Amino acid sequence: MNIISYYFVKIKTLLYNEVGDTMKRFNELDEGFTCEHCGKEVTPLGYTSRDHCPYCLYSKHIDIMPGDRKNTCLGLLKPIGIEKYKDTYKILYECEKCHETHKNIIAKDDDMNMIIEISKVN
Ligand SMILES: [Zn+2]
Ligand SMILES: [Zn+2]
Repeated sequence: MNIISYYFVKIKTLLYNEVGDTMKRFNELDEGFTCEHCGKEVTPLGYTSRDHCPYCLYSKHIDIMPGDRKNTCLGLLKPIGIEKYKDTYKILYECEKCHETHKNIIAKDDDMNMIIEISKVN
């Protein structure tokens, strides 16, 4: 997005109070959801696609490639370990339904205590 369209969006947001709509258009795949494991309300992440619950770290088997939402399995992804990835970490998952493994990069608001707990398992 260039600077002009950035300000255009800003002004439009102020004028029409379309915060929800505007965000949706630019971050199509960053959605809030209710966690199917712990039942907590999860809000959209704001900088990348929200792909797991920040409270219990469970995810859902909805992607084939990260963010594509093309998987029809829809099983719960159970966090089973932590792996170092560049200057961050990835959560390792196993699907409770089809038993495929999956990885997600940790989010800035993930519960660090949960991450530590899971990293102790392996
Ligand atoms: Zn959860
Ligand atoms: Zn699955």
